[in-house]
Amino acid sequence: MGKKFIIICASTNHMLNADRILRENHINTELIPTPSQYGSICSTSIMIDEESRDRAELLLKENLVNVTGIYEYVERRFLGITKGLSASKEFMDILKKVEQGFELTREEIVKLLKTENPKEMEALYNAADRVRKAIVGDVVEIRAAIEFSNYCTKNCNYCGIRRDNRIIRYRMTEDQIMEGVREIQKLGIKTVILQSGEDPWYTPDKIVSILKRIKKETGMRITLSIGERTKEEYRLFREAGANNYLLKIETVNEELFKKVHPDDDYHKRKECSVWLRELGYVNGSGNIIGLPGQTPEDIADDIIYFKDMKIHMIGIGPFLPAKGTPYEKLPPGSVDMTLKAVAVTRLVCKNVFIPATTALATLDPDGHVKALKAGANTIMLISTPPGFRENYQIYSNKNMVDIHKALSAVRRAERKIPKYINLDVIA
Ligand code: SAH
Ligand code: SF4
Repeated sequence: MGKKFIIICASTNHMLNADRILRENHINTELIPTPSQYGSICSTSIMIDEESRDRAELLLKENLVNVTGIYEYVERRFLGITKGLSASKEFMDILKKVEQGFELTREEIVKLLKTENPKEMEALYNAADRVRKAIVGDVVEIRAAIEFSNYCTKNCNYCGIRRDNRIIRYRMTEDQIMEGVREIQKLGIKTVILQSGEDPWYTPDKIVSILKRIKKETGMRITLSIGERTKEEYRLFREAGANNYLLKIETVNEELFKKVHPDDDYHKRKECSVWLRELGYVNGSGNIIGLPGQTPEDIADDIIYFKDMKIHMIGIGPFLPAKGTPYEKLPPGSVDMTLKAVAVTRLVCKNVFIPATTALATLDPDGHVKALKAGANTIMLISTPPGFRENYQIYSNKNMVDIHKALSAVRRAERKIPKYINLDVIA
């Protein structure tokens, strides 16, 4: 394999423009989360082959694209991450490969996921924690979600707000959503997540209007998580101010995907993620740990998919049974397997956001802390206003993560609270 080069641009618009120009001139490009040694965790850069390097530079200059730099891409090493850790030689050899900047094979990833030896698990979590520290530092990013509608046209077998479940349904108005956004802004939080079931009542016009209003009145970053839409709609949302999009693949095992999603098309779901990447979103995906019949090999394939798809935000949560669903009686996913998946994802995908998920905090009171110590670096508050939030039970007994719980987890994990949080407004 020849050398690879990465092009870093001054803004997302310059980057997308550069990508278009290069592709129009028949240069093969790949959009990747900017490796940590070259830039910030949110940004995307363009990867090209060595033979295109000089021509690409010239083309971008001619077209007045603001390029910050073109660098030879070398996999970063993480020297010292295995220091003092003890586990079997075979297990340590895998961690040492990460330390030296080598990619792990599927077999090695499976080996990491399969361990049930407490010493090996601890070594894995520690190595992931050190890679996290080297890449994103100690500050835990805090974001907040407003679940603005629990209507859904889909019938995912695991989900408590699936179409056929008899629950009280609600839709928030634009004004109600704005009220919630302002509460989040008061806390100093910079990113709001707008999530809902797949609810076509919110037409593109309605979503665009909400996005524009949030941007105009607060300037906050916006993550959308409203399921599958057309490429044109994703484009409109992006233009109206959406920065990030969260659309989890849930599992890349096609058979399992079909089994748990009676009315979802596996290829369509994957295609949506490709569109989101092409449109310049900070692209979010993730999986559910503990779906019926899921194996460690399946989870390894999920992680390899996140890496290959250049996903920036990866939500890894355990399956939790929800009342009234076909999976009501199934056991929840395992806390250990979820933590192992978090750790391995950090080791494989590196410069990405990994939340300590609400689902994990629901299953285990120390779930946030454990995930933060195994590679995670983000916590998401549930800021859906009372009166609505009780009915957004995608799984039963959902933990209502508020700012107090989040700050307590950050402190217990001995990590840093972001400077943007307004501690004086938090009683
Ligand atoms: N309708 C959108 C967003 C809302 S659901 C979508 O499906 O993309 C958000 C996430 O909740 C899903 O991606 C799924 O991973 C998670 N989820 C739903 N039910 C769950 C359950 N019972 N256990 C664990 N995670 C669940
Ligand atoms: Fe609807 Fe999302 Fe739940 Fe599936 S997971 S039923 S799409 S809300």
